[in-house]
Parts: sequence; structure tokens; C-alpha cells
Amino acid sequence: RVLVGTKVDETHANWVTAYNMLTGIRVSVSRTNAKLDRELTDADFNVKQKSTFDITGNELVPSAKYDFKFKDYAPWVFRHLRNAFRLDPADYLMSLTGKYILSELGSPGKSGSFFYFSRDYKYIIKTIHHAEHKFLRKILREYYKHVTENPNTLLSQFYGLHRVKMPYGKKIHFVVMNNLFPPHRDVHTTFDLKGSTIGRDYREEDLEKNPRATLKDLNWLRRKQNLELGIQKKKLFLEQLQRDVALLKRLHIMDYSLLVGIHDLSRGNDENLRGKTLQVFNPGGEKSPEDDLQASLLRTPSKLENYRKAKELRQMVQKERPVPMGEANDQMPDDVGEDRRGLIFNQDDGGFRATHEDNEPAEEIYYLGVIDCLTHYGMIKKIEHFWKGLSNDKSKISALPPDQYGDRFYHFIQGITMSAEEAKRERARRDQE
Ligand code: ATP
Ligand code: CA
Ligand code: CA
Repeated sequence: RVLVGTKVDETHANWVTAYNMLTGIRVSVSRTNAKLDRELTDADFNVKQKSTFDITGNELVPSAKYDFKFKDYAPWVFRHLRNAFRLDPADYLMSLTGKYILSELGSPGKSGSFFYFSRDYKYIIKTIHHAEHKFLRKILREYYKHVTENPNTLLSQFYGLHRVKMPYGKKIHFVVMNNLFPPHRDVHTTFDLKGSTIGRDYREEDLEKNPRATLKDLNWLRRKQNLELGIQKKKLFLEQLQRDVALLKRLHIMDYSLLVGIHDLSRGNDENLRGKTLQVFNPGGEKSPEDDLQASLLRTPSKLENYRKAKELRQMVQKERPVPMGEANDQMPDDVGEDRRGLIFNQDDGGFRATHEDNEPAEEIYYLGVIDCLTHYGMIKKIEHFWKGLSNDKSKISALPPDQYGDRFYHFIQGITMSAEEAKRERARRDQE
């Protein structure tokens, strides 16, 4: 099996950053996991745990200086969150840091965030804006409460919040979260749905070049697509979505979307296609990964610098505990689809299988979740203000207040959630009118 994205190896511009992220996670998460479990306290939500990594080279190679600072935010809260989301603690660390392999998706959105997949494709590291970071810390208590009351929440599952800082480098904030898509199944079609139609169109002509592009609301509507869920599953899905949206509204969050990955069982896994599209997978589809690197938030040291630091870090890491380094044909564990069976929306091969009205299974498996939910209304307002001041073009961005955003979002999704049978009746009814 192959990973989607560009492998981050020693020659990659973001290798050192990626390496620091993983080292920081490995050391700080093991530290917390090593302790006996205990109840959370109020103070746990505000904890910042600082670590300093530094090794100084010998006299012969004075440049072999390796240092960065790492911060782990609310480590106990995230330990409890990982538990609530039924992650196995050892498994989590192994997936992310057992071998130092990540693949980079470049920056799929306009936001400039970078996305990295863990080698087994289970986890995503997303670099986030400082404002999103501050906001997540601010709402962490509410988020935690929501997750404990709604273990099947469709909201992004956050497993860790961290920061790395290299000398003279930028501070890079990032979260670790669930990859909604399965490692073992091809996702044939992907949609990112907001319930808005303005600018929500992917040029279908470009699909040939980029068959894995993320489609949007207008593509969905044009294709007369539905989220085919029979009576039982529709109820489960919409009730959970409603509770999740209620929280987002209350926290004044907006700009989130429902990510829908569709696996068509009649098509199965197409390994050839997967191999061919490996390098071009780019959900945003607008920019090449190279463009994004240029605009990167990340500091990008020279190749030689990367190489030196990587070598040093490798030695350091190996001293502490031997870590086999990234062989080219890294095999993924085979049990990836077996995990987390208890969660409702992951119950069918890691996803939620489409059903007919009578709850009999249909031909598709959906992989669903509400993503990009760290944008506070105030942030949007500020950006909007900035743009308006700059271009005097009011139409460029029009921020909807969070209540309206949430209602429009929910009603859109509610309106497209129906079994094939229900859709047929609906069409007949409309034709009558
Ligand atoms: P923008 O703010 O411009 O929308 P962003 O950088 O905040 O962009 P997201 O909206 O979070 O990015 O994600 C962009 C794309 O990355 C999504 O449309 C989706 O294709 C992919 N993606 C994001 N999160 C996940 C996830 N948890 N699982 C699988 N794919 C994801
Ligand atoms: Ca988004
Ligand atoms: Ca965003």
C-alpha cells in the first residue's frame, strides 16, 4: 500500500520541522502516559508543559547543534480525550512516532495550514494559526464536556495541541486529529459541504487531471447526490449533527464544513488509480505543493542544514531508544479497519454505510465529519475588515453570524440526507406540484 501525499524525507524542506514535531510528541505524550491515570482538575485545562531539546555537537563539528523548544498544552485533558475517542495509548504513539515517517499534503486550503499524515494514515497533523490555537485553548473545557457527553460527535477529534519553536524560527502551532478517511479503502469521491453556494464549485473539467479533488456544494447539487441513509441511520446522524452544530453556534464558530468521503462498494479498491494519483492528490486543487511551500508558515532550512540536523537528531533518538528509520516500502499494519468499532459513525468498516429506507445496506460507505471548526466569528470579522479596507469590495467575503451559519449548514445537510426511496418519492411529489 502507498501513502497519499508527498513523503517527508531528509531532502524535504519541512523535514526538520516534522522531525521536531514527532520528537516532541513522543517525549511529552510518553511522559504523561507513564503516570497513573487520575481525574482531571480545573487546572489541567490551562497547563502548558515546556520541554527544551538541545544537543551540542562535538568540537569537530561545531555546527552540529540541535535545539528546539516544545510545548505540550493541557496534556492530561488530551490524554482523557484520546481515551474518550477510544484510542489505544501505545498505538497512538507507535502510529505517529514508531518510525519517523510522515507524508505531507501541502497546504490544501487557503489558510496556509499544512497537513501531515501519520505513516499508517490514521492521524493528521494540521498546523494552525495562532488565533486558532488560542481559541482551542479557550474552548477546551466546553469541547471536552461535549465529547464526554457525545462520544459519537461528528466534530474533529483533537488528540493533542502542541507548539514547536526553533531558534530564529517561527512558532508553529499544531493539532493532532483523526483522519476521517480510511487507510484501507479507496475514497472515490470527496465533498466539502458548507451549505453555501457562493464560490462553492469545483470545475468538473479539472477532475480528469485531479480525480481525487474535493468537490463542493454546487457539485453535490448538480449531481443530485444524497446522503442515502434510511430511517434509523438518518435519525442517528441528524440528531448528532444537530447537537454538534448547537455547540458550534454557542461558541460562535463558523466556516466549518461537513467532509464526506464516499467509497463505492461496487467499484472496490482500485490500486492502479491509487498509485497513479499519489503525487497529484491535492484537495484544494488550486495550487501545487511547491507553491505552498513558498508561502509556508514554516521555516524552511537549506537541504544541507536539514541533512545535518536530521543526522544528529537520528543519533540522539537512537541513543534514547532505537527507532528504525523510514524504509521506502513501509508496510502498514493490517488491522486498521478493525479499530474503534464502538463509535457509531465508524461502525461499518471504519465508516457509516448507506442504507435503504428499510435500513437494509446500500452500495456506499460514507466517511463523515465536521472539519475546520476552530474559526471564531471575531477572526472572520477581522479578516473581512482587512479585505474591505484593502479592496473596497464588500462582496469578497461576507461573513454570516454564527447562528445563521449554523442554521444554514444544518438545514442544507438535513435537506440532502435521504434514502434512495425517499428521494424518489420527493421527486414525484415535486413533479406533481
Ligand atoms: P480553509 O480555511 O481555506 O478552508 P484549512 O487549511 O483550514 O482551509 P481544512 O478546511 O481544515 O483546511 O481542510 C482542507 C481539506 O483537507 C478538506 O477539504 C479535506 O479535503 C482535507 N481534510 C481536512 N481535515 C481532514 C480530516 N480530518 N480527515 C480527512 N481529510 C481532511
Ligand atoms: Ca475549510
Ligand atoms: Ca480554516
